[in-house]
Amino acid sequence: MTVADRIIIPLDVPSAEAALALVERLPEARFFKVGLELFVADGPRLIDELKQRDKRVFLDLKFHDIPNTMAGACRSAARYGVDLLTVHGCATRRGLTAAQQAAEAGAAAAGIAAPTLLAVTVLTSISPEELSEDVKVRLSVADYVAHLATQARESGIGGAVCSPQEITTLRQLCGPDFTLVTPGVRPDWSETGDQSRVMTPRDAFAAGSSYLVIGRPITQAPDPAAAFARVIQDCQG
Ligand code: C5P
Repeated sequence: MTVADRIIIPLDVPSAEAALALVERLPEARFFKVGLELFVADGPRLIDELKQRDKRVFLDLKFHDIPNTMAGACRSAARYGVDLLTVHGCATRRGLTAAQQAAEAGAAAAGIAAPTLLAVTVLTSISPEELSEDVKVRLSVADYVAHLATQARESGIGGAVCSPQEITTLRQLCGPDFTLVTPGVRPDWSETGDQSRVMTPRDAFAAGSSYLVIGRPITQAPDPAAAFARVIQDCQG
């Protein structure tokens, strides 16, 4: 895989038209993330359009429900032929196992490869105080992230979404084949925006990330294709 294959552009826009306009502006990008806003608006149609353009798709819907419902959702999503799919890591071993088995069954029934399921650990928007007071988790954020990732791996899930700060630990805990997808990445020439604990793309790959999700430094640049090329160059240089 080249560096370009390992950079995922989030389509954080409200419609398929806006998403495809962004895809057109990034001809060298190969991997796109479809999140809740876009999927609820125009999802299945957009996924078809991306596949027709030979793009890879990260479907970021963060499923969390009873095991039977998670399984149904993963079975359906696997039939779209997406490459990465998120579930919540706190969905218990039973939920995670059901999700993984259903994704494999859905893909097999459609005669296509199964997506890699990713466990979302602790959302980076959750503060240590909120984890303790609102969610009533008594572990530190770092320990809870490590627990959820380990549990996901033991349940057959193929990877996790993690912040740059967690890459090194999760890589050590979960081994070389576990897929780590990392947002919160910022080239040193870009604005940090609302991301607080950031790392450069080059450092995030060096720490052991499999894929980086990089949005606004590329999508909001005056010339997104040039910004994408610059990120690739930074990683290779
Ligand atoms: O524009 P930016 O690079 O900040 O976009 C990052 C993308 O990754 C967005 O789609 C955002 O929702 C997502 N994300 C994140 N932090 C997480 C999980 C997902 O920034 N913990």
